[in-house]
Amino acid sequence: MSLSRVVITPEVFLTCITHALSTEAEEVMGLLLGDIRGEEGSLVAHIRRAVPQIRTDRRKDRVETSPEQMAACSALAEHVSSSTGLPTRVVGWYHSHPHITVLPSHVDVNTQAMYQMLDEGFIGLIFSVFNSAPSKEQTIQVTAFQSLPGGDAAAAAGLLQGVSSDDLAGLDLQTQEALRASAAEHMQEASGASWHRKEVPLAVLQDGSNPSTLSDYVEVQKMLLAEEQAAHQQHKASSSNHNSSSVHEALLQLHDSAMHQQALLQHAECVLAPAVAAMRALSLQADVQEQQLQEDNKRLQELLDAQLAAAAAAAAAAAADICTDSDAGNGAASAPLIDLAGETTTEVPASLRTNDQAQPAS
Ligand SMILES: [Zn+2]
Repeated sequence: MSLSRVVITPEVFLTCITHALSTEAEEVMGLLLGDIRGEEGSLVAHIRRAVPQIRTDRRKDRVETSPEQMAACSALAEHVSSSTGLPTRVVGWYHSHPHITVLPSHVDVNTQAMYQMLDEGFIGLIFSVFNSAPSKEQTIQVTAFQSLPGGDAAAAAGLLQGVSSDDLAGLDLQTQEALRASAAEHMQEASGASWHRKEVPLAVLQDGSNPSTLSDYVEVQKMLLAEEQAAHQQHKASSSNHNSSSVHEALLQLHDSAMHQQALLQHAECVLAPAVAAMRALSLQADVQEQQLQEDNKRLQELLDAQLAAAAAAAAAAAADICTDSDAGNGAASAPLIDLAGETTTEVPASLRTNDQAQPAS
């Protein structure tokens, strides 16, 4: 049975988008952790974590993960299961399409089919980034897909039909044409293939059982830095193997470190600085919320005090009434008067006392 829906958390969305926007020269990828549940007779994938993968090989249009990274990810999933009590495993993968359509390529559909052979609920996400609309505005598109067997003409036609109806609503003419051309290309490819893509509805929803900690978002930043360092070390090792003069080698080293410095500065400017700015904005927002809550708290406290004072005044008035009534009667009524006054006055200080006790705690 194929998936009927996929639900990701806002943090997973943020992590994937940040990773996808880190480079427009090559594709990046990562694995998705969560679980697949049967809901009302259909399968729904719930994704709670995104784990970016270090690229061992930087190529423009290919992404792959190593068996080591896959194993590390499975170990992390087990750790998450035991620490949160939520069943967690590797349930999908994501990759970026910089400057190209969000639709999966022929290779993507085949890779997805291979993953589904191991786990039928496996899901693929694609983030299309760095695509500018005619207005020069950047657009980001996301799709979730699975592969279904059968690459016959009917399936391929269905692919084109799927694109021309719902997907194109609300897009400008140029983008529509580009998508149609891409779908036509896919149709040609699919006619010789044995798999075709099936789009899965995607929703971004907060998961109440697993509060957001932004840990994956921070992990992307660390991973990008580690990737850059590894690439530099690799480059340094290969260039020092040169059988050349010491001057040549010194120049090469100078060049390498300048390139490395440039890459780090770019990372700081394009990735870290916006992340820090976003965190500061979140922190400011939290401060404003805290201030509002404190004001609300103060207002409610004043209201409570006023009501308690009114209750005390009413009680005192009632006691005074009784007192006047008893005064009007004979002197023998003086004993019950003390009892009554005692009863009413103990009631008010009791509430005031709870109030006093609550105050230092807040
Ligand atoms: Zn792709």
